Parts: sequence; structure tokens; C-alpha cells
Amino acid sequence: MKILVINTGSSSLKYQLIDTEKEIVLAKGLCDRIGLGGSIVKQTDHTGKSYKKEIELHDHNEAIKEVINALTDEEFGVIKSMNEISSVGHRVVHGGEKFYKSVVIDEEVIKAIEECIVLAPLHNGPNITGIKACKAIMPDVPMVAVFDTAFHQTMPREAFIFALPYSFYEEGRIRRYGFHGTSHKYVSERAAALLNKPYESLKIVTCHLGNGSSICAVKNGISVDTSMGYTPLDGVPMGTRCGSIDPAIITYLIEHKNYDAAMLDDLLNKKSGVLGISGVSSDFRDLEEAALNGNERARLALDVFVYQTKKYIGSYAAAMGGIDALVFTAGIGENNSLIREKATSGLEFLGIEIDPEKNNVRGKEMDISKPHAKVRTLVIPTNEELAISRETVKLLGR
Ligand code: AMP
Repeated sequence: MKILVINTGSSSLKYQLIDTEKEIVLAKGLCDRIGLGGSIVKQTDHTGKSYKKEIELHDHNEAIKEVINALTDEEFGVIKSMNEISSVGHRVVHGGEKFYKSVVIDEEVIKAIEECIVLAPLHNGPNITGIKACKAIMPDVPMVAVFDTAFHQTMPREAFIFALPYSFYEEGRIRRYGFHGTSHKYVSERAAALLNKPYESLKIVTCHLGNGSSICAVKNGISVDTSMGYTPLDGVPMGTRCGSIDPAIITYLIEHKNYDAAMLDDLLNKKSGVLGISGVSSDFRDLEEAALNGNERARLALDVFVYQTKKYIGSYAAAMGGIDALVFTAGIGENNSLIREKATSGLEFLGIEIDPEKNNVRGKEMDISKPHAKVRTLVIPTNEELAISRETVKLLGR
């Protein structure tokens, strides 16, 4: 069975065509600069053959048409016709409190996802656009929505309620939702499989460390806490996002520095994080290089990131009453051995001890703990697209 996995952004559309029997990616691609002028479609197939087409994409409908053209292209395509696509799995960022698991998309689901736009305007709007564009072009192909928030809907109330007047939750649904749920679920399940232990018996901390970072406490197979909050701005500092800060800084900036909502949004989402501290880059490779060359602020940015990550690991061990496994994933977690080493140093008291040689690994599954360590520390590459394709098969059963 061939499943098309779609991840729609405001001006981009990423896709993978996955053969679910063999679990291989037949082709993956990107439509970029949709509606912005200078659009481009890029695709690479499972043999490494790549396709590139510069074509004006005015909207997401045109982008989906080009995805189908690329997938069925005589020279570069991987299927003969669109009819070979048995279903489509859509990544949807926010499912609010309504969606605690993936669902088959129908008119009612589309309406409910639209109601969540207010919770994540930058993400859910484009996600809906992507769903509608696919529906227009493939009206008879069944589709599934897989939500970034769904895995965290198991959090207990004490973990998701903010200490604001309760009416903010009752009337505005302002609470912690958490994100990257598909990734946290995938790597925690994978950790249990690698350790050959029942998922339901483990206390796992998963660190999804990338451009956006979040940490999750997975106890007995369910998410019990996570660092991102009402939006993906909360938690550890990120590439350009500030993570948790004292909220009174916001009122200070409004009252004394003439900041308005748009300026604050720009500051906290795009100009903060490790980029803001270092003034160098949001990319950890650049920061490491700058720190090695003596740049003190780049070093400080790395130190702040590592310190906050370490605090979350400790606090989630406390929240779960222990920890059996620690998982690193996403761009930084999978590739950056220095960050893994620093984020785990000093945690021997919890039973976390990593082996420097085993830690010298990039982008592949590995138990990097010392043989006697009580806690198994694992590097597990995430694969959200594969997880979405599996959810799609599970729900549609074909
Ligand atoms: P992501 O958002 O998951 O793509 O992660 C982006 C971050 O991962 C950037 O800060 C990169 O520095 C880091 N990263 C991605 N790939 C590598 C790599 N091969 N080696 C080192 N760091 C990497």
C-alpha cells in the first residue's frame, strides 16, 4: 500500500510517498515558496534520483497537482498514476482538546480543525488548506489527520493547568497542550522495543531537540508532562524561540519599550533563543564552531540550552518517580554528541551515565549508556512521516 504523507506550511508543502508494506520512502519532496513567486518543486526518490522544477505555484491546489505530476513523472516518478495512492496522512499541528488520537477526515473533522485555528493560526490554517487541496484533487482517496498535540492529551490536570484564573481555561481553553507528540510517541515506543521491555512498564524522558525543542515525560506508555505549552514557544530555549521566560518581561516591554503584539511575537519567536543570546546563529553547528573559536556568547547560548534541558530531565524524573530510559532525537538530539554529553553530565545520581565512545554517533539508533548504567540513554532518529503513515494504515485498515 502506498500512502502519501503531507505536511503543509503557509508557503511550503512537504511530502513523502511511503510503501507501508516494506516501510520504505519511495519519494520525498518539497514545494517551496507557494504564493510568493519563484516557487520550486524538489523531489528525491528511493534510489537517489532527484527532480527539480521551477514553476509558479499560486496556491496549495496547484502545489498538490505538481506533487502528483512529480510522483507520476515518466522519468523521475515512482508511480504510474495517482490511483496507486491508497490514502493520505496529514500532519495537523493543533487538535485542541477535541482530538486525543488520529482521525479519519470528514466534513465534521475539517470543521473541528478549523475551530482550532485560533489556537495555532500559523499552523492549522495551512494544514486545513493542505487537506482541502488534496480533497479537491483526490476526492475519493481517504485521508487521516494526525495531530502533534494528541499524544499529550493524557496529561493530568496538574500538569496542564496554568495558574491563571480558572475561567481562562473554562472559557478560553488556555492550558498546556504540548507539541511534537507524534515524535515523542514514536521514539518512546521505539525505546521500549529496543530495550525489549513492555512500553507500559517504563518511565521514559524523550528529548526532541531540533530547531524547535521539547521534552516529554512518558510514564507507562502515556505522556504525563511536556515542556511546550499553549503554543510551541514554551519550555527549553530553541533556535530562535525564547522558551520559558518570566511573563512580567512582556508587560515591562509594553509599558516601557513601546512593544505591541506584533513586535512581541517577532521578538519571542524569531529573535530570541540561542540566536538571541549568541547573536551568531540559530544553528547549533555554527554555535559550536563559534564557541570553539572563542566566541563567549555562542558558548553561553549552548550553556543555557544545556542547563535548561538538564533541568527538565531531572524534573521529569521527579514527576514520574524515577526514570528508566532517556532518549535523544531530532536534528540536535540525533547528531550533536557534545550537547548529549553536556546535558547528561552530573546526572549520575539519577543513574544516567553515557559512554563517550558510544556517544560518538550521528543519526542512528544506539544505546550510548555505560554498560552498568541504571538508566539506558538512547539515540533514536525520529520519523514522524513513518509514524503518520502507520496511523493512517491503522485507521483505514488498508
Ligand atoms: P531539526 O529542526 O530537527 O532539523 O534540527 C535542526 C538543528 O539540528 C540545527 O541546530 C542543526 O545544527 C542540528 N543538526 C541537524 N543536522 C545535523 C548534523 N548532521 N550534525 C550536527 N547537527 C545537526
